[in-house]
Amino acid sequence: MSASPRTLTVLGSTGSIGVSTLDVVARYPERYRIHALTGATQLDRLFEQAQAFRPRFVVVLDEASAEQLATRLKAAGSQTEVLCGEAALEQVAAAPEVCTVMAAIVGAAGMKPTLAAARAGKRVLLANKETLVLAGRLFMDEVKASGAELLPIDSEHNAIFQVLPRAHREHPYAQGLRESGVKRILLTASGGPFRTRALDTFAAITPAEAVKHPNWSMGRKISVDSASMMNKGLEVIEARWLFNAQPDEISVVVHPQSIVHSMVEYADGSVLAQMGSPDMRTPIAYGMAYPERIDPGVKPLDLFSVGRLDFEAPDLARFPCLRLAFEALAAGGAATAVLNAANEVAVAAFLDGRLSFPGIAALSEAVLEQVSGLPAGDLESLLLADGAAREAARAWLARGERAC
Ligand code: NAD
Ligand code: MG
Repeated sequence: MSASPRTLTVLGSTGSIGVSTLDVVARYPERYRIHALTGATQLDRLFEQAQAFRPRFVVVLDEASAEQLATRLKAAGSQTEVLCGEAALEQVAAAPEVCTVMAAIVGAAGMKPTLAAARAGKRVLLANKETLVLAGRLFMDEVKASGAELLPIDSEHNAIFQVLPRAHREHPYAQGLRESGVKRILLTASGGPFRTRALDTFAAITPAEAVKHPNWSMGRKISVDSASMMNKGLEVIEARWLFNAQPDEISVVVHPQSIVHSMVEYADGSVLAQMGSPDMRTPIAYGMAYPERIDPGVKPLDLFSVGRLDFEAPDLARFPCLRLAFEALAAGGAATAVLNAANEVAVAAFLDGRLSFPGIAALSEAVLEQVSGLPAGDLESLLLADGAAREAARAWLARGERAC
């Protein structure tokens, strides 16, 4: 390992992935140093993190929060500077002294700073899948042009990365999957908390039920996405871009135990899988130390207590969001950006009690139909599509079209 520590910016340090990342950093103080931490709310947590990791910068959303946090830090004798706003997020992601950026902001809000990190040629640890759903081609073009090192953190994509041929995973655009000897990607999905729940009770699902994932502990938005299986749909789109895969080279396999994190099927019939306890510190540590391996404190996988591994086909009638993601991918243009934006508005409304659980798919489908045919050429056109979809989604909600 190199003598000087790797300098990290953690975008979204107060969230589930951010906290797990700092847990790994704390185990290896000689290897990693924090340049910047960022968070939207949760100022108490940011204050504690700043005290523990002594970053050069902390970035928050608005000036009032920045002032409040700066006063507290100063009173505690901290040297950390507090910045705010979108431009500051991009600044700490692209700073010359930073080697690695953990992109762990949730939603489309994470796209610009993640793009800034890629443009600046950083090692990008990509948790924020929405960046690829919103701007997959553009983002991968930036990675290619700058020579950034892209390491997927999403557990499934991290698993696929681990079992793909090294040449393909590091330079996915040199050739297609088939030319690399790969037949298809088998993306596993737990099926979430409602895999076997009676369909006629879906309208009664509460936010508390939806965020209670059987195997993983995650932020609220991704937990709802997992319950609707929109998360798996977003991950299909994510895999398409990360691995230069055609949509028909990606199959979703429901695997309720979340032990096999995904698989790759080769031309000769071999299927390689990556397994482990469901703990995000494994893919996070993999990305941080790549190509070395470090111990992130994860409970070892005990196959005897797991006992069995089950696999089933996904039920698209039960989980229409997964179908919508495949449709958006097939439609091309800005359709996946539209789907992502509609889903973000729908999930926020569901969590606020303004939309039923089946309403998430109904709203997303209506917006996908209404805001169609938009191009995905550049960042501006993608942001326009994102904005148009959000507006259409809000109008749909205002009309009270609960549709279920
Ligand atoms: P989270 O809700 O726990 O944390 C989100 C972070 O983003 C927080 O630090 C929050 O302050 C920040 N944030 C929210 N809105 C913001 C805004 N408008 N501007 C700036 N910062 C903002 O989410 P999470 O579960 O940690 O997920 C983060 C990302 O990682 C998501 O894209 C998710 O899909 C992906 N991911 C998460 C997991 C997991 O296990 N949690 C697994 C795979 C992928
Ligand atoms: Mg995942």
